[in-house]
Amino acid sequence: MGRIQLKQVKKSFGDVTVIPPLDLTIEDGEFTVFVGPSGCGKSTLLRLIAGLEDTTDGVIEIDGKDATALPPAKRSLAMVFQSYALYPHMSVRKNIAFPMKMAGMDKAEQERRIASAAKALNLTDYLDRRPGQLSGGQRQRVAIGRAIVREPAAFLFDEPLSNLDAALRVGMRMEISELHKKLDTTMIYVTHDQVEAMTMADKIVVLQAGVIEQVGSPLELYRSPRNKFVAGFIGSPK
Ligand code: ADP
Ligand code: MG
Repeated sequence: MGRIQLKQVKKSFGDVTVIPPLDLTIEDGEFTVFVGPSGCGKSTLLRLIAGLEDTTDGVIEIDGKDATALPPAKRSLAMVFQSYALYPHMSVRKNIAFPMKMAGMDKAEQERRIASAAKALNLTDYLDRRPGQLSGGQRQRVAIGRAIVREPAAFLFDEPLSNLDAALRVGMRMEISELHKKLDTTMIYVTHDQVEAMTMADKIVVLQAGVIEQVGSPLELYRSPRNKFVAGFIGSPK
């Protein structure tokens, strides 16, 4: 499960409205990419969905239930940030176990989930290492592992690869896409990188100044951009 619906969701900071009321439905299992230039409201939109920001107006539903007033921990969503935010003094295993330990989860269940996440992320051989002994890509995978073990209804990624070098970024893109296939879970992925959007998305949401310019598959946007902004941003010849 992981269907997310935004109904007339609006966000203002003081007098400044950064997201005018917008409607958006993200289907269960879909890999949706929010793309647009810096400052267009991608992170704000993701943070509204995660519950890290309060909506100024409108309703957010997760799997048909009103989640607008729920705190982040009750939304069954996992946010993966660009900074790894791993605990340097803890092993990979302990880093991944941390959220489950905090939740007081049964030890055997913790072990089961760690093994399953490590397998999905090819981290099985690295569980006893510390973050300092890992590559950037491996550290990013541990951060994702920590999200996976919560078995969320959806994963929210905010430019998770922007700290990585170009070669590693290509590899991680493929890994995240592969993970999406393995887990078959809703993923929302924020990026300002058109190539990332075009190669990873089932559905792209193009944003400009808090407004959705177009929603569609990469092919739809490429073939039939609704306006010059979308065409220019997606790199369509039109
Ligand atoms: P993006 O992630 O697309 O780069 P953001 O969602 O971070 O864009 O920002 C969208 C707009 O909202 C920007 O103009 C930004 O300055 C503004 N903004 C974001 N967070 C805050 C905040 N906490 N207070 C005031 N303005 C904010
Ligand atoms: Mg951002």
